[in-house]
Amino acid sequence: MSDHAAPFTSPLPALIIGGGPAGCACALWLHRLGVETLLLESSDRLGGLQRLSPYENLWIPGVQDRTGEQVAEALHDHIAAAGVPHRLNTRVTQIGEGFSVTTEEETFRARHLVLATGTRPAAGPFRPAPNIAIGPGHPMEALEVEGRRIAILGGGDNAFDQARFVLHRGAAHVTVFSRSAPRAQSLLQDMIPQADIRTGPYQADPDALTVNGEAFDGFGVMYGFEAHVPPGLSLTSGNGYVEVDRFGETRTPNLWACGEVTDYWHPCVTTSAAHGVQVAKQISLRLR
Ligand SMILES: Cc1cc2nc3c(=O)[nH]c(=O)nc-3n(C[C@H](O)[C@H](O)[C@H](O)COP(=O)(O)OP(=O)(O)OC[C@H]3O[C@@H](n4cnc5c(N)ncnc54)[C@H](O)[C@@H]3O)c2cc1C
Repeated sequence: MSDHAAPFTSPLPALIIGGGPAGCACALWLHRLGVETLLLESSDRLGGLQRLSPYENLWIPGVQDRTGEQVAEALHDHIAAAGVPHRLNTRVTQIGEGFSVTTEEETFRARHLVLATGTRPAAGPFRPAPNIAIGPGHPMEALEVEGRRIAILGGGDNAFDQARFVLHRGAAHVTVFSRSAPRAQSLLQDMIPQADIRTGPYQADPDALTVNGEAFDGFGVMYGFEAHVPPGLSLTSGNGYVEVDRFGETRTPNLWACGEVTDYWHPCVTTSAAHGVQVAKQISLRLR
């Protein structure tokens, strides 16, 4: 299904891939700056990772009492109400020189291409299953925990946050396995004195649901996030993220990236959206 069905015959001035906070902000600004633009999103709603979060988002200046899901819905509604051309359920499968952008249904050409494809929870060797949740938010909330023994794999903020939520939801026992000293803020670590924290190498067996031979009822895999980059051009640096300059441009002129897919320091909703705005402004200046 597409929300914007007009065919494009000549190269679009600007094409944006990814409808999270970065891509939505970029598309909104480009549209308002008078640049013909199209936003492509693989899922059926805009909002990106915020769609995964049933938790209150306390971190957006001026936005109160909204969960991540509500923030995502607001982004979706804003793009629709502002008349920003966009297509949902449109996954980009390949990007090429020039720039050509291939989806399952057609190929677009664009003078300026913006990658705003964000990140996804890293799964390591695990696959989602009824007893295995990958990443924070909805996947973890769907895991049955009441009266159960849950192993949280990972030692960052999300691991400790989720261990706390799981305890709050009535888990009988929570063990956090961290290969090295936990990186989570001490504030978060101190909030769960009752959790069993194990530091050091471990072997987790997803079929037997054991860690170092000890049986659990469920795993929460909190291995951080990895950049989501469509195949085609070689864009990423050693850590898998897209390197950009301070305007959001990659080493290839007119190829831009914004938000979590980049090496931007400390991505969140606000910084990702701000990054999208910077890119939009630069593109509009370049096209003048
Ligand atoms: C559970 C959870 C809670 C969070 N809580 C907060 C919080 O309280 N406050 C806060 O500021 N931040 C929070 N964050 C982080 C915040 O959601 C992200 O920093 C932000 O969404 C990043 O925006 P983005 O646009 O760069 O990427 P994303 O939100 O990841 O959006 C990228 C979009 O690109 C799409 N896409 C990817 N590949 C393709 C493709 N090939 N073709 C088409 N589309 C594609 C994806 O479907 C997605 O919609 C939270 C994240 C999670 C997971």
